[in-house]
Amino acid sequence: VFKDFITGFPKESDMEVVTTDTVRLKVPEGSTAVLLKNLYLSCDPYMRSRMSKHDEASYVPDFVPGSVITGFGVGKVVDSSHPDFKVGDFVWGTTGWEEYSLITAPEMLFKIRYTDVPLSYYTGLLGMPGLTAYAGFHEICSPKNGEYVFVSAASGAVGQLVGQFARLMGCYVVGSAGSDEKVSLLKNKFGFDEAFNYKKEPDLNAALKRLFPEGIDIYFENVGGLMLDAVLSNMRNHGRIAVCGMISQYNLEKPEGVHNLFYLITKRIRMDGFLVFDFYHKYPQFEEITMQYIKDGKINYVEDAAEGLENAPAALVGLFAGRNVGKQLVVVSHE
Ligand code: NDP
Repeated sequence: VFKDFITGFPKESDMEVVTTDTVRLKVPEGSTAVLLKNLYLSCDPYMRSRMSKHDEASYVPDFVPGSVITGFGVGKVVDSSHPDFKVGDFVWGTTGWEEYSLITAPEMLFKIRYTDVPLSYYTGLLGMPGLTAYAGFHEICSPKNGEYVFVSAASGAVGQLVGQFARLMGCYVVGSAGSDEKVSLLKNKFGFDEAFNYKKEPDLNAALKRLFPEGIDIYFENVGGLMLDAVLSNMRNHGRIAVCGMISQYNLEKPEGVHNLFYLITKRIRMDGFLVFDFYHKYPQFEEITMQYIKDGKINYVEDAAEGLENAPAALVGLFAGRNVGKQLVVVSHE
């Protein structure tokens, strides 16, 4: 349960675990509701935005103090009066951070067609973050074989996939991450050409110059702030920047200034923000292609699973300290 609106970094104590006596394990008569048994919940950086009070409507609604947290997850249908969902179906989409959720408006539930992969993949690789990586890279970055690509927060849910999609297109790919363990994953598990620990680099500009002596064609932006500034001065003419996220700024009272925007003009750089919600129509295409990559062993995937709903607050908060190694999820139940 979300306690109350916050400023600054989120804490575990901003959420509490509540046990209720009564659970209604049937959908209401005459409704088109679906009752889910939740299996896996997704911890996503955008959830931080929902913990702040917005005076104007945001792109996602604020959490409601005193109410159950909602987010992406995977569940099993245990009762349904909706024609598209039957008991025993597995689904991914918007659900509650609870053992069972009554979904009264199941427009944001997607039936899982492939159950021969771990179902937790639908919180990441085959879910919202996977589609973000796919659409963000292929639709926004206009990549070409042989181009020089840089990905920040590269070992996370989105970044690890962007890097692999880029390698599959024959690009040279460098990733940044916040620990030596993550750097090793990038190079040895996900096949990045190079990777660096940004916390150990006193000069980000010099690090990028070292790794991209000819400059960067494509930057997949996940962090913002100082990294964005350093990237701007290392972009090539006609480069593209896909602005996916700016996690380094989400908890700051005053966002850091970006000083090098003038390069957008002189280098004729295209910088596009995007939201995955605008690309749901691409999901079937993305799912087919990614399933084939998985079957062919062309994509590796690392997830970080916290066991038990009671560990969900720590798992969510951990994203903002880089405690997750790979996609952070919470296991509510394995079946
Ligand atoms: P991750 O799995 O990458 O987890 C977040 C990671 O961000 C942490 O592990 C940490 O890695 C890094 N991080 C945390 N704080 C900082 C900081 N101050 N500076 C630099 N890095 C930091 O998350 P996702 O892959 O799910 O999300 C990645 C980005 O994509 C986020 O910005 C998110 O908001 C955005 N996003 C945007 C979507 C869209 O529709 N536009 C959809 C989904 C995600 P490290 O140890 O490397 O620092």
